[in-house]
Amino acid sequence: MRAIRRFTVRTVLPAPLEPLGQLAMNLRWSWHAETRDLFESIDPETWAAVGQDPVRLLGAVPTDKLAALAEDRRFLARLTVAAGDLNDYLTGARWYQSLPEPGSTPDGAPAAIAYFSPEFGITAALPQYSGGLGILAGDHLKAASDLGVPIIGVGLLYRHGYFRQSLSRDGWQQERYPLLDPNELPLTLVRHPDGTPARILIGLPGGRELHARIWKAQVGRVPLLLLDSDIEENEPFEREVTDRLYGGTSEHRLHQEMLLGIGGVRAVREFCALTGHPQPEVFHTNEGHAGFLGVERIREYHESSGLDFDAALEAVRAGTVFTTHTPVPAGIDRFDRELIARHFGGDNEAPGVPVERVLALGAETFPGGEPGVFNMAVMGLRLAQRANGVSELHGHVSQGMFAGLWPGFDPAEVPIGSITNGVHAPTWVDRDVLELAAREIGPELTEEAHGWTAIEQIPAQAVWDLRRTLRAKLVTEARVRLRDSWRLRGAGDAELGWTEHALDPDVLTIGFARRVPSYKRLTLMLRDKERLRGLLLHPTRPIQIVVAGKAHPADEGGKRLVQELVKFSDQEDVRHRIVFLPDYDIAMAQHLYPGCDVWLNNPLRPLEACGTSGMKAALNGCLNLSILDGWWDEWYDGSNGWAIPTADGVEDPDRRDDLEANALYDLVEHNVAARFYDRGPDGLPSRWLEMVRHTLVSLGPKVLASRMVKDYVDSLYAPAALGARSMAADELVGAKTLAAWKAEVRGAWPQVRVDHVESGGIGDAPEVGNTLDLRVFVSLGDLRPSDVEVQVVHGRVDGADAIVDGAVAPLKPVRRDEHGRWFYEGSLALDRTGPFGYTVRVMPAHALLATPAELGLIAVPADGEGVADGLPLR
Ligand SMILES: *Cc1c(COP(=O)(O)O)cnc(C)c1O
Repeated sequence: MRAIRRFTVRTVLPAPLEPLGQLAMNLRWSWHAETRDLFESIDPETWAAVGQDPVRLLGAVPTDKLAALAEDRRFLARLTVAAGDLNDYLTGARWYQSLPEPGSTPDGAPAAIAYFSPEFGITAALPQYSGGLGILAGDHLKAASDLGVPIIGVGLLYRHGYFRQSLSRDGWQQERYPLLDPNELPLTLVRHPDGTPARILIGLPGGRELHARIWKAQVGRVPLLLLDSDIEENEPFEREVTDRLYGGTSEHRLHQEMLLGIGGVRAVREFCALTGHPQPEVFHTNEGHAGFLGVERIREYHESSGLDFDAALEAVRAGTVFTTHTPVPAGIDRFDRELIARHFGGDNEAPGVPVERVLALGAETFPGGEPGVFNMAVMGLRLAQRANGVSELHGHVSQGMFAGLWPGFDPAEVPIGSITNGVHAPTWVDRDVLELAAREIGPELTEEAHGWTAIEQIPAQAVWDLRRTLRAKLVTEARVRLRDSWRLRGAGDAELGWTEHALDPDVLTIGFARRVPSYKRLTLMLRDKERLRGLLLHPTRPIQIVVAGKAHPADEGGKRLVQELVKFSDQEDVRHRIVFLPDYDIAMAQHLYPGCDVWLNNPLRPLEACGTSGMKAALNGCLNLSILDGWWDEWYDGSNGWAIPTADGVEDPDRRDDLEANALYDLVEHNVAARFYDRGPDGLPSRWLEMVRHTLVSLGPKVLASRMVKDYVDSLYAPAALGARSMAADELVGAKTLAAWKAEVRGAWPQVRVDHVESGGIGDAPEVGNTLDLRVFVSLGDLRPSDVEVQVVHGRVDGADAIVDGAVAPLKPVRRDEHGRWFYEGSLALDRTGPFGYTVRVMPAHALLATPAELGLIAVPADGEGVADGLPLR
């Protein structure tokens, strides 16, 4: 029978056990093994049965057992220690507290930062993520907590999260969406002092309203606010807005993103007002989905200070950071322009936020752009004064991808920087690894980016023993999962004896797990099945492969790839050497990375923006075998793993796959397996172990989320807070003057020209040590020299006269001639031999710009203008 109403009876803990409630509700337990030990000790069997979830554990332990524990003095003593430790963690000074005093001083660090993301992957017990983007957001919050960075996370609470994956008998992906009851999750409702739940409201077209309540997950020191539309105030249609992650129609998606962006800002305001938490000075949008937060803040400035759209835009931009996460066009959110017009215009148009201006923010006004489309990434870039990609390579790729928004600029000058992602070591490093490191080195390793060289001192035997233990743990775990999967596929126990011998704790283990979009090429390893079979079944140097990954429910192609892989691994002759484990999630990942010897990644370069699973693997002493894409392109050093050669430039995708797959097989056979099985007289693969140590020493300090979050604070959050304060001071005079100045510069720019360039000071044969004198005449129209910078760009030139890695130097205004032209001059020391070139250019300049490219305006000499002394000018 079906229940007509469902509610959850909350456990009431006996008074002496109350600290257990706090320990369960603060997700720090998810990266603090001692706290998990304490929960496990309450009832190990139940702990395992509830999937190591403290909230569910406390709900499942019988009342009489709790009553007995409340009298158990040894348990109470341990509880006091754990609670005290959490309290110290929450209140002590950390890295951030050593920065210039947050918020209170003109150049202090930001008082708070709001971090918006459509998904957060913190623990398997709070399944609100689909893959890398969410896990990264979770790691960002955890590292921020460890560092004492005052972040507030903002997201949505999806009633069904992302789907759970299983397989049909013939290997087709099956999807389930179990209902999540927020009362059974580590969440508390944000409430008013009188106990009523806080609520926010946003408008939809046709006078409809979308209400949401605000749940809070506590991630160490960091609150994470999750908006939930499944409440009685809403009509049935609006209740469904937060039903699931990345599902539904385009309109449904838009409603989610409006709730996240607009509702998210309102939730932050409400939360800060109710709790006294400082209001954020910086808003960070993790990918474009939350971009409407900028539109909402423009509305706020209009309402609170009467700012017009342009001035409000400047105030908002200064305090907004946008991170782009994908160079794959399909990964970027794009809406029908009409849909946006309907939602931000008509009866739902907000005062001070004309719909035409909103539409312009997302317009694809560049060559190849579609006029009928509203692009969330483009809006992200227009609403944020600072933007970044997530690895160096991805930063460069993004510059090229969005260069059309800065016409006239070389891609290298497009103002999109990069901060390479990192991973939260306490979450991802296996406990056995941490304990070995703590024993041999000391506890500080994973929180700090130093001390890693001490790993060289750990005895080879200890490292090898640990690797085997980790591999064996994975084999055990994989067998259980394999058996469970086959039961769901309809197999009876009698058929499943073989699963007890699947995989081997002494065989070289390669892991491959990730979402299954086509660019990640799940099935590249199947390109030549006989070759793969030979590697798996090699008589003396066999390999085994553990594979996992979910295809998006709407992606039939991805599901076919999963099926192809499953069908191959179902074959009797290889099924003990290659397994597909359904339902890849954080819990599986935590076993997978440590247990593998090699982590395989073979995306289509350069479509992997960063990739983080390889970083988590590396931190556990697993070696990377990867295409030089994302983070690996940056940190592969020739001996910390292997680079699969790419067939960049080969147009035919089939041929490219063939070439890259062959290179992969060759590497596995001749380098990877050869080295793994090359044992010395002591039985140890010493050259392999050298690589393991080198991986830890070279990558350990770099791949940490703490390094990443510090980079965000230093190079984006702190400058953004300073910028926002400059805009806000004296009743927003900065924002008003900057907006007025930009309008003036845009109006005058058609008259700005480089009229003439002369040079002298060197003869026909310039030599190193000569000085080149430059004289430049420019027209500035109605602008003044203080509105612009006139620069010389100089450096080596390539065969096509393009300046490579040019340096920039400003020229000085000297006087104005009778025609109204400005005369600038400067000199250049010729400090290296070889082909050399220079050019001059004029760009807007203002103290409140983050980069001179910000307005996308530039004036350069007309073709052929000013060529002097035979030096190439471009
Ligand atoms: C780390 C992680 C990912 C992201 O891995 P990529 O290498 O970036 O594809 C996806 N899912 C889970 C469960 C993870 O832990």
